[in-house]
Amino acid sequence: MSYRVYLVEDEKNLNRVLTSYLEKEGWQVQSFTDGHQAHQAIDQRPHLWILDIMLPGLDGYQLLREIKAGDHQMPVIFISARDEDIDRIVGLEMGSDDYLPKPFLPRELVIRTRKLLERVYGPTANASKEPARQVFDWGSYHIDTQSRTVSDNGCLLELTAKEFDLLLFLGCNLGQALDREQVLRHVWSADYFGSDRVVDDLVRRLRKKMPNLRLETLYGYGYRLVKP
Ligand code: CA
Repeated sequence: MSYRVYLVEDEKNLNRVLTSYLEKEGWQVQSFTDGHQAHQAIDQRPHLWILDIMLPGLDGYQLLREIKAGDHQMPVIFISARDEDIDRIVGLEMGSDDYLPKPFLPRELVIRTRKLLERVYGPTANASKEPARQVFDWGSYHIDTQSRTVSDNGCLLELTAKEFDLLLFLGCNLGQALDREQVLRHVWSADYFGSDRVVDDLVRRLRKKMPNLRLETLYGYGYRLVKP
């Protein structure tokens, strides 16, 4: 069986793109563009909901309330283009498990979804549903996403969980400029409140361990990993 993910997003193009990204992970995606339709599907109990906040019919807040009333452990990710801080705070207070402000990379939503599924249903249960092992070879580095190991010419490098998450996030968005806030939200959780200096510190540590990584600094913005 594969996870059933219900997505509510009224922007049709975005809905289609996100659906296709989520389906590529092997999840069964049911997509809705209207709050009322989504409301009628609450009893179907998918494994996870992704909710936009501004929707025709019922809005995301109302849906969240109904979903959590039926099953308070049902994982919910909010996506929103409205005032980020207010949505994030209200959403978290109402029990949303994660929050992703628009615009975001579809890949980022996939990663967040997988993380949340793992957190709620356990990594073992999820293992069989993981896409095939992904292995990257970058120059002398060999990166295995399943065993979460990195080696340099066959020598295993000791990366912390956060260092590995950062590497993976950069690698999944190869060639793209990522700002500190995106890195922060991805590698730490959505409810992390603190300085984005921790991102710089983490990058510094990763560079020290992987000096041949072509990890560029975009001054005043963030970072970009480019192909070796
Ligand atoms: Ca909307």
